[in-house]
Amino acid sequence: MGELPHKYEVTIKVATAPYKLSDKIKDELKASGMMDDKGKLKLKGVSPKMLKRMKEEAVDCPVLKSEIGFVQCFVCPNFQSRITGKVLCKGDPL
Ligand code: SF4
Repeated sequence: MGELPHKYEVTIKVATAPYKLSDKIKDELKASGMMDDKGKLKLKGVSPKMLKRMKEEAVDCPVLKSEIGFVQCFVCPNFQSRITGKVLCKGDPL
């Protein structure tokens, strides 16, 4: 099976600072059922161990032109998949 069309391959790196999700993103996650009312993330197929690791990772987002936490990237509408340390990103304007 071929890869989905994507614009960017973004390298995942260790975060230089801890990233907190903004209130706007939290509201979006809650609305789509990916976060409960207590603010706990519920991501399909992501174990607590993986989630802990994801929180220590970041990407230099080519669309937002800044470093963002990997959790935010993972839930971004442009996120397609994660392959060997890279995010395949659709690259649409956000
Ligand atoms: S998936 Fe979203 S957050 Fe991640 S690199 Fe692409 S545009 Fe940025």
